[in-house]
Amino acid sequence: MRAGGNSCDGFACHGSDPARMKKISQLTLDCVHCGLCLPTCPTYRETGNEIASPRGRIYLMRGVVENRIEFSELVLEAMDLCLGCRACETACPSGVRFEDLLETMRAEARGRGLHQGIAKRIEIFVLQKIVPNRRRLRFVVNVLHGLQRFRVLAALRLLLPSRWQRRIDFLPPIAPPRLRAPLATSFVARGKRRARVGYFVGCVLPEFFGSVQRASLHVLAQNGFEVIVPDTQVCCGALHAHSGDLETARELLEQNVRAFRDAQVEYVIVDSAGCGAALRDCENWLCDDGEGSTASPRQRESWSWLAHSIRDISEFLYAQGIEKPSREMRLRVCYDDSCHLFHGQRVVDAPRALLRQIPGLQLVEQEDAAACCGAAGIYNLTHPEMADAVWRRKLASIERANPDVVVTGNPGCLLQFRAGFAQRGLSIRTLHPIEILAEAYSRQE
Ligand code: SF4
Ligand code: SF4
Repeated sequence: MRAGGNSCDGFACHGSDPARMKKISQLTLDCVHCGLCLPTCPTYRETGNEIASPRGRIYLMRGVVENRIEFSELVLEAMDLCLGCRACETACPSGVRFEDLLETMRAEARGRGLHQGIAKRIEIFVLQKIVPNRRRLRFVVNVLHGLQRFRVLAALRLLLPSRWQRRIDFLPPIAPPRLRAPLATSFVARGKRRARVGYFVGCVLPEFFGSVQRASLHVLAQNGFEVIVPDTQVCCGALHAHSGDLETARELLEQNVRAFRDAQVEYVIVDSAGCGAALRDCENWLCDDGEGSTASPRQRESWSWLAHSIRDISEFLYAQGIEKPSREMRLRVCYDDSCHLFHGQRVVDAPRALLRQIPGLQLVEQEDAAACCGAAGIYNLTHPEMADAVWRRKLASIERANPDVVVTGNPGCLLQFRAGFAQRGLSIRTLHPIEILAEAYSRQE
């Protein structure tokens, strides 16, 4: 694996960024090679291969920055096979910032022009041109809705290879455009106002998870919070960062900082674990790889403000205290820790504690509730075989818990559960914790 095609002189490679290489070099030094992260890594558990483990990936990164290892397809695939679940960060006694490393490494690959396949080009086009632009995204979703409604998608599916059929299977039923209308920009608190909070809408969430958003706004208002929904906010940039496009991720973050700062809110509430983890990490993305070093103190203070204002909705409601629902819900509910809540935001007890406040609801635990479900953003579309293997473990532990409902705080995981249960012929409902709480409140109204 000695450097060959990617000939480099120290940190100077074609398309390489010295600040990025320095950051990778510094962050890899935190790894003491103890191997404690290996048993928690889904890709290592499936393959038993060191190169598919956190320690192996860090070894490859270090080899690339020291110019001992060529940044080859093999290295790129080792990085791309990572789910970005961050289980290794929780297990690591040395505080290795693995996600930060991975995203910087992917950005380096992109800078060197290593991501050149057609699928990657389509992904980049969609992330850059469609996802951050509400009008274009809405147009695409409206077209998909039409194709679903007139069963064109179902007919097309039969003509496609199985890899593409899978992509279609993950698409949830899309509501008609009138039910996906943009949210109002403010919601009044019920009763005495306790605080003024911002609500993060996201990019695809209003199109596919309108029910979660309506539930969040209802529960916040019900518990005395005035909610502001700035219409200048944009996508969180997480998918861009995961694919190595840190530049677009930074532009989007800057826009979100301005939108919520101008709204003068005390907290910014997020009900998507992936978006919340990304927004909480915004200081890392924006300033510590050298590119942000020219930022003014005022800019840095704004980034820090956003990072520290973000609250996951369950975490926020539990910390503030909620009105206890009065009507019973006789359900066996299994809570699944999404990776970006558990490992990314360390939110573990709050969703369970909220659910326990619903009379009659029985919380049933599964083994290893924090294990990844295989969704991981668009991973289940780009690496279907590994995603399936990871999902099979999750499915087995859910089936043993035998719930009526599986509850999880990340939309990507909800899609994975819905598609996986449907494939298996299981009638287990899948909901966001806030949907259950909203349902409990609606029974008493
Ligand atoms: S982020 Fe997850 S898949 Fe990637 S190396 Fe860490 S534990 Fe393994
Ligand atoms: S647990 Fe941390 S220090 Fe140990 S091998 Fe894994 S990443 Fe390195």
